[in-house]
Amino acid sequence: MTPINENFGKLPGSYLFSTVAKKVAAYAAAHPEAKIIRLGIGDVTQPLVPAVIKALHAAVDEMGRAETFRGYAPDLGYSFLREAIAENDFKARGCDISSDEIFVSDGAKSDSANIQELFGADAVIAVCDPVYPVYVDSNAMAGRCGEYDTEAGRWTRVIYMPTTAENGFVPELPKETPDLIYLCSPNNPTGTALRKNELQKFVDYANEVGAVILFDAAYEAYIEEADVPHSIYECEGAKTCAIELRSFSKNAGFTGLRLGFTVVPKELVRGGASLHAMWARRHGTKFNGAPYIVQRAGLAVYTPEGKAEIREQIAAYKKNAAIIRDGLTAAGYTVFGGVNSPYLWLKTPEGMSSWEFFDWLLETVHIVGTPGSGFGPSGEGYFRLTAFGSLENSVEAMERIRKARV
Ligand code: PLP
Repeated sequence: MTPINENFGKLPGSYLFSTVAKKVAAYAAAHPEAKIIRLGIGDVTQPLVPAVIKALHAAVDEMGRAETFRGYAPDLGYSFLREAIAENDFKARGCDISSDEIFVSDGAKSDSANIQELFGADAVIAVCDPVYPVYVDSNAMAGRCGEYDTEAGRWTRVIYMPTTAENGFVPELPKETPDLIYLCSPNNPTGTALRKNELQKFVDYANEVGAVILFDAAYEAYIEEADVPHSIYECEGAKTCAIELRSFSKNAGFTGLRLGFTVVPKELVRGGASLHAMWARRHGTKFNGAPYIVQRAGLAVYTPEGKAEIREQIAAYKKNAAIIRDGLTAAGYTVFGGVNSPYLWLKTPEGMSSWEFFDWLLETVHIVGTPGSGFGPSGEGYFRLTAFGSLENSVEAMERIRKARV
């Protein structure tokens, strides 16, 4: 018999969003008259901005002419894009990151799931709890998480760092020493963000114990408060302990186009090995580059027109976030996030679990959100709504919630 990777069999249930989708599909089939508002999954809804569309058209035309046709892209990304990223996302913020420390990819989901390949099978991971499920699941598939304890809703070999209202959504440094620390700021799902001094604490700790921080900044574009860092490299010493993951999905609406990048500084060395060289080797072996036309579209994001158009899109999502935050508060809910993030994180009403509130919201007001418990054990008793819907739907959803307060 062919041996299989038995770690897959240890994964709990199906992926959170497919469970939500199945429940919603079943409800919609049984109640075709219900006007369902989806504020659940973190996908964007606004179309790509004109500067990006223009760049896509021009790149498609180039691909149709022998003299400008492009075949395989460089594994690590075209230099025109890597240089624009280094300049705009890092040098402009005072971070000393060069273009050859940037690895262009097809998005932050694959990078955040694949990055664990650089580390030993026995590396111990620490995650914020609750957090984006991909970090734990990808390590579980690699056999690093031990066994899943269904009752407790947690893996036996993962260090969970509770990130809840009790600690102001700032995780404490772990008591046992991890090898890898996943941080996401602004965080999905809590919608909260770490301040510079809070992130600096983690950087100092990682350098002290020799851990590596995997910093996911997919929601960086939503930051508005001055003391929230946009990149971990704004912290002193981060280049010797941190890898940063970025995405074009939530700032520029590339969820369907696919583009992201990972920064691996050259100074980052563990066990005598350069993680930069290892990631270059891994990328070169397993990835044949993001499409030329998509990288051209990515470059358009950094033009003056692209920047202005994207700023407007983000402002529209942030307006929705403010409407949802104010609406929930007026309806008597305790709500967090939504300031530096498109996510709102609310406490479920007394005595209601995350999934019970999910069912109540769907059945009573036909609104879809995401149960907090799906993001980790400390997410129980919380619920996530997103600001990625339309203005009209955000307003209507709050109207319905206000009228139907449990
Ligand atoms: N990282 C976080 C924290 C996310 O919430 C998401 C998507 O929801 C991603 C990464 C995925 O980004 P991408 O679309 O670039 O794969």
